[in-house]
Amino acid sequence: MTSPKSPLLPAAHPSAWLGVMGGGQLGRMFAQAAQSMGYQVAVLEPADACPAGQVAQRLINAGYADAAGLDALAAQCLAVTTEFENVPADSLSRLARQVFVAPNAHGVSVAQDRIAEKRFFVDCAAKSGVLPAPHKVIASPADIDAIDDDLLPGILKTVRMGYDGKGQVRVRSRDEVRAAFDGMGQVSCLLEKMLPLAYEVSVLTARGADGEAVVYPIAENVHRDGVLFTTTVPGVNVTAACAALAQQAAQAMVAELGYVGVLCIEFFVLADGSLVVNEMAPRPHNSGHYTMDACVTSQFAQQVRAMARLPLGDVRQHSPAVMLNLLGDVWFNDDDDTAREPAWDQVLALPGACLHLYGKDDARRGRKMGHLTFIAPTLEQAQQQLRAACDILGIAP
Ligand code: ATP
Ligand code: MG
Repeated sequence: MTSPKSPLLPAAHPSAWLGVMGGGQLGRMFAQAAQSMGYQVAVLEPADACPAGQVAQRLINAGYADAAGLDALAAQCLAVTTEFENVPADSLSRLARQVFVAPNAHGVSVAQDRIAEKRFFVDCAAKSGVLPAPHKVIASPADIDAIDDDLLPGILKTVRMGYDGKGQVRVRSRDEVRAAFDGMGQVSCLLEKMLPLAYEVSVLTARGADGEAVVYPIAENVHRDGVLFTTTVPGVNVTAACAALAQQAAQAMVAELGYVGVLCIEFFVLADGSLVVNEMAPRPHNSGHYTMDACVTSQFAQQVRAMARLPLGDVRQHSPAVMLNLLGDVWFNDDDDTAREPAWDQVLALPGACLHLYGKDDARRGRKMGHLTFIAPTLEQAQQQLRAACDILGIAP
């Protein structure tokens, strides 16, 4: 363990500096939450124009493995976190020799490598009660000959750097696996059996340095083209038994990892109601954005509390919520592909609308530009407003 023994460290009180690795929208919303509690925020990010850099008090323009940049971040901050799982684990270890880091290199290294992640899920199954989808490592063409028939049709996923459905190919035969493996440059992959999903859920948890953990209400997620489309809480399909099982599994996993910070675990629910663990994100997650408007403590404020070694916040949800991701497509007219500004005046006239835009001026199709959450006294009302917003924005509901 390279991190300092956290219980011996005093809490980082507001006005201190907190650091974040990564300058994307998650870093931006983290910075905003930290600042609203009185902290100052430093962001380390290679790109000079970035969503988090627009709001942080300091932007350190450096690569994620740049020693001078990392040391500057450590020298400035009382604690450092990360906003994305592909930050090199070695960088977190380097930071941890100088400053409190949450989550630590171990948790992030498991989540950033699909093989390590699957192994963790399997090893943890006796405690968590859930298994991942049947799978096989594909590291060489010879591995393809040895594929069990039962794994097809399946999905070939790169072991590293996959997100938003990128680095994934659906395959029906060994020949298709071969073609996909070659297409991805023969990098290490994992073949996963394609499961008949009834629906998908995620569980957001946070664990403090003292080992205390909290679990948010379970969220039901709909994906479109591999990208999260909507999150609904409470989920329309989620049974109490399913929620209890997923929450218990998530608690077991964070405890087993000895994790500190916010962690999100994605699950598949099959037709017979059984639960399969998909993957985890060692950070606040897109499916947890609803907490910003519908819960006492947002996932970003929770990350601040965990890394600053303050008591974790109340996870109670005060309003039913539906979150819609706003992709760059909304900034284009579908008929002639010309640019447009979405009709925010109409969207914001809808009751319960909470708009979050990430400060990205370059709208591209498929790019996450913001999200829109509706909260209402009942879920039906929130869903009705969401449908109205989709209509205004030209999104098929
Ligand atoms: P994220 O944006 O969550 O990081 P990702 O690119 O890491 O996504 P996954 O979560 O592994 O990818 O997969 C994306 C989506 O593809 C899942 O949410 C699910 O809808 C579908 N999917 C993935 N694996 C399977 C499977 N084994 N069987 C059926 N559907 C799957
Ligand atoms: Mg996923």
